[in-house]
Amino acid sequence: MSFAFEAPPVVSLPIVGRTERFPVHRVYCVGRNYEEHAKEMGFTGREPPFFFLKPNDSLVVVNEGQTGAMNYPSLTQNLHHEIELVVAIGVGGRNIKAEDAAKHIYGYAVGLDMTRRDLQNEMKKQGRPWCIGKAFDESGPIGPITPKDMAGDVNNAQISLQVNGVDRQSSTVAKLIWNIAETIEHLSAAWELQAGDLVFTGTPEGVAAVVQGDRLVGHVAGLGSLSIDIQK
Ligand code: MN
Repeated sequence: MSFAFEAPPVVSLPIVGRTERFPVHRVYCVGRNYEEHAKEMGFTGREPPFFFLKPNDSLVVVNEGQTGAMNYPSLTQNLHHEIELVVAIGVGGRNIKAEDAAKHIYGYAVGLDMTRRDLQNEMKKQGRPWCIGKAFDESGPIGPITPKDMAGDVNNAQISLQVNGVDRQSSTVAKLIWNIAETIEHLSAAWELQAGDLVFTGTPEGVAAVVQGDRLVGHVAGLGSLSIDIQK
């Protein structure tokens, strides 16, 4: 087969302890999945989970032990960090029940759902899609995938983010409104999941702005850390 121009490369993530890589298919994200974050965004209660997507080539892949870089994006004056646990799907399926969800998980990673908050808020106000606020280039810094057998008890892991060494976000995955298994159940009712899909599961409270020159370091216990600089 020949293409009219060079085909884009396969987006992939390193896997802790392996030489083979994880090829990325889709990147799903869950909105407002921690109660205290829902409140700081002006919402309360346990609404059904809702989803948006990022293009897989918006990921910024950061290797274990390294510090990555992203450029401060265009059009915004209010770039926010959202530290998130990311679930990597290894076996696809549709209408997956929560009790079967574990079988479909390959592993986990630490990710940042970077958000042009001013643009997202404007789109919300106008009832328009969030793409310009959420799905821009370099909007998804992410570390390597830790296979699930090496990841420990992710459902109860501490999750945190420091900016320039100062705590910004700190919580536990146990506070997810819709836990990992329930999220997979809801997601797979709406789309057929495929091996290679990633799911950003939502961010805890404490989201705030970053500026050029900031260093963000995120942690989920059992998964190592994700370090990235906002490029000058
Ligand atoms: Mn998010």
